[in-house]
Amino acid sequence: MDPKTNSTPAPGMVELRKKLSEQSSQIAIITHVNPDGDAVGSTLALSRILSRVGHTCSVIVPNDYPEFLKWLPGAGEILCMSQNEAKAAKIIESSDMLFFVDFNDIRRMREILEPVSRSSAYRVLIDHHPDPVVKADILLSDTTVSSSAELVYRFMVENDLKKYLDKDIAVCLYAGIMTDTGCFSYNSSSPETFTIVADLLQYNIDKDRIYYQIYDNFSCDRLRLLGFCLSERMEYFPEYRTAMIWLSRGDQKRFHFRTGDSEEFVNYPLSIKGVRFSAFFIEKEDHVKASFRSKGNFPVNTFSASHFNGGGHRSASGGELYESLEAALDKFRGLLPEYREQLNDYEE
Ligand code: 5GP
Ligand code: MN
Repeated sequence: MDPKTNSTPAPGMVELRKKLSEQSSQIAIITHVNPDGDAVGSTLALSRILSRVGHTCSVIVPNDYPEFLKWLPGAGEILCMSQNEAKAAKIIESSDMLFFVDFNDIRRMREILEPVSRSSAYRVLIDHHPDPVVKADILLSDTTVSSSAELVYRFMVENDLKKYLDKDIAVCLYAGIMTDTGCFSYNSSSPETFTIVADLLQYNIDKDRIYYQIYDNFSCDRLRLLGFCLSERMEYFPEYRTAMIWLSRGDQKRFHFRTGDSEEFVNYPLSIKGVRFSAFFIEKEDHVKASFRSKGNFPVNTFSASHFNGGGHRSASGGELYESLEAALDKFRGLLPEYREQLNDYEE
């Protein structure tokens, strides 16, 4: 038993603690493609904690992430694989330890997977998605928590690193928890989440500023795009308690689309009374990216895994289809009758 947490340490934890305390390592902290607030917040927090211990850390992401996360403390040092492939690969190959944060499937690392598969470094997974299939020396996986940021906080406490918690780390962790819970509207019923938030607030963070830096930091075009999308690109299926929205490449061009502009769009259809399943499709250069959200118990992760090569959480998932936008929309429309009963088996 660990006296600090009253829980049994995960297998391998003793070895990990030894590694972290006895030698100075080069550590690569890696997260998933299309990094979101939790991915960026939790990797930056972890990087700062481990740097303060005395390790040399690099945060590496597969592709660019939204502008509204670029003000987070330390974000300037994030290395983007798609922009500097050689440098990212070199760091991964010379790292003694790899931390995988906020994903459960190695394919979500995209091009980073190649240098990772050549590396024999010690691997740690910190994640909250169901059924991790990532191979690591130590799996710090808990699907009951709100976010990976919560797990990074726990990692810090369990490894006696809480003394390094400072305002910048608290800002990153708060941003991770806030974004992964939709500002505490879902995945946040555990008192532990609020105990952690209460502690983070002790570090003099300005939570209102974190909110508006993330949610009120868009271009005028993005707001017009949202209006257009809801008005012209939404299909409502009351008989299936479902609504879907989409954006073509042309729509994105018209509104000068930038990375992150469609973040959260998928949630809007859920605000229609009675809708419990929402889908968003966005046409990319060579594929269609899908996002799914649900209210109640409709499992969008298995839906996505079965039909859109994806996965995720029970109520928030995503996937990809290497077909045309029209084919993706048709596929979705065609699947709904199969789920009629499940979608209507719901108490308001
Ligand atoms: P989003 O819709 O915001 O892109 O993703 C929501 C959640 O779905 C993410 O937290 C992630 O867990 C999961 N997800 C999104 N896209 C994919 C995908 O292509 N594959 C898998 N396995 N999960 C995804
Ligand atoms: Mn997350």
